[in-house]
Amino acid sequence: MPHPVLTALGLQATESGTYLGNGEWADGRDAGILEPVNPTNGEVLGQVLATSEADYERIVTRAQAAFREWRKTPAPRRGEAVRLCAEALRTHKDALGSLVALEMGKSKPEGDGEVQEMIDIGEFAVGLSRQLYGLTMHSERPGHRMYEQWHPMGVVGIISAFNFPVAVWAWNALVAAVCGNISIWKPSPKTPLSAIASMKICNDALKAGGFPDIFFLFNDAGSDLAQAFVDDKRVALISFTGSTKVGRHVGERVAKRMGRSLLELGGNNAIIVDPTADLKLAIPAIVFGAVGTAGQRCTTTRRLFVHESIYDDVLAKLKTAYGQVEKRIGDPTDAANLMGPLNSREGVQAYLDAIEKAKASGGTIESGGKALTDRKGNFVLPALVSGLTNDAEVVQTETFAPILYVMKYSDLDDAIAMQNDVPQGLSSALFTTDLRASEQFLSAWGSDCGIANINIGTSGAEIGGAFGGEKETGGGRESGSDAWRAYMRRQTNTINYSDALPLAQGIKFDL
Ligand code: NAD
Repeated sequence: MPHPVLTALGLQATESGTYLGNGEWADGRDAGILEPVNPTNGEVLGQVLATSEADYERIVTRAQAAFREWRKTPAPRRGEAVRLCAEALRTHKDALGSLVALEMGKSKPEGDGEVQEMIDIGEFAVGLSRQLYGLTMHSERPGHRMYEQWHPMGVVGIISAFNFPVAVWAWNALVAAVCGNISIWKPSPKTPLSAIASMKICNDALKAGGFPDIFFLFNDAGSDLAQAFVDDKRVALISFTGSTKVGRHVGERVAKRMGRSLLELGGNNAIIVDPTADLKLAIPAIVFGAVGTAGQRCTTTRRLFVHESIYDDVLAKLKTAYGQVEKRIGDPTDAANLMGPLNSREGVQAYLDAIEKAKASGGTIESGGKALTDRKGNFVLPALVSGLTNDAEVVQTETFAPILYVMKYSDLDDAIAMQNDVPQGLSSALFTTDLRASEQFLSAWGSDCGIANINIGTSGAEIGGAFGGEKETGGGRESGSDAWRAYMRRQTNTINYSDALPLAQGIKFDL
């Protein structure tokens, strides 16, 4: 019997992981089977039939054919297709949010919130479909007109991470769709059921609205097919979300074939708390940032710099708050719990290894630091670690778990320098009521991250802004603002409506 959360979405105990288009899902078993595990109790949630090479070929061929038509569809009409998807996601928000919570291990409100992001980006994309603007320029030549326009790229590949099993796809696919592209999605092998459910919801909505296939899906039992996807010249853009280790490899391979990539990789995000900070805001923001999603967000707060004058007070308040969280760790689908499990056993091991390294480097465990072995599932206590410096290897590394390194500073310049002194550059925040400190943090000599906030934490971003970060975070931007441009190719057009042929820069070429 499938889990009731699967049944609510019409999913069976065994599902195909391959959407071939034309309403067809592949049913071959030769390519292997994925078995996503419920991180709360270690039980297998279902079986997903992985995609064969032959079916991958079929998908790419069909996606190319679909693109030849979709690019001719007026953008506002493409927006209507996405509007139907957003509407269907709204209808299924509760059920899909529950599946995300169940399969990934995030809390039910966070699972629902992820689906809400899909809806929001869908609505944003509908508006965008009438605003894919290009500039016009004044030509230096008489009787000439210049302008630029934005054309679709073609087939867009989306590779996503386990921690945002559905929203990252929507950020990419729904914007890519209004831009005139067809997308092929390879989700994380840890969360294939959430991907299949999202695909069914959206593809059913497209079909009911009389739209063609614009979203395809495949699942890889290993990483051979994902690798082939990255190397595939027919895929114009690879949008990759995941670890810096894999992302670096993906970026190099796509560059080698002169393709385009959009990289959304690891973060090592910090909050600075200055002496003027309002701790009523700072403490909950730090705790949510470090503990929310059990520390498995790319924007999770991993480092905290506290001014020496308030350090003891802040640490004491955090210890109290962590004590409260410890009492509410459990099944993430139960809304009473604040923290769920880590997604995998490897995640627990990475957490324990980092705690050991922190201790060996001279760190003090102020709170947590242990796995919860009294129950099934991948539960750990959120950890507060003091006594390390920013240059300690473990502090410089993104451990995808709820570990917060707390450090002291005396001068804001030094705090900002330390905050920037890591390989990653995703999200950052300063808590202050001092205008000068705030403006310095946001200035060109302030935070070097893609996201810099004042009096809100590092974690969780609204879809309206462009999302992404610098340095080893990969440099990509997706979601709002003008991130849509990454999914289009720019074309500059010059039209001569005069009866002469003047050359640019006044060059004479008399024949
Ligand atoms: P991961 O790098 O292990 O896997 C990401 C994806 O890459 C998966 O779909 C995986 O199957 C695929 N993959 C593995 N090998 C591949 C290969 N050779 N070629 C192509 N694809 C391959 O990451 P994860 O553990 O799923 O996710 C956690 C990481 O993702 C963290 O580092 C986190 O910071 C990062 N992340 C970043 C963002 C962001 O927007 N910056 C968002 C979410 C997660």
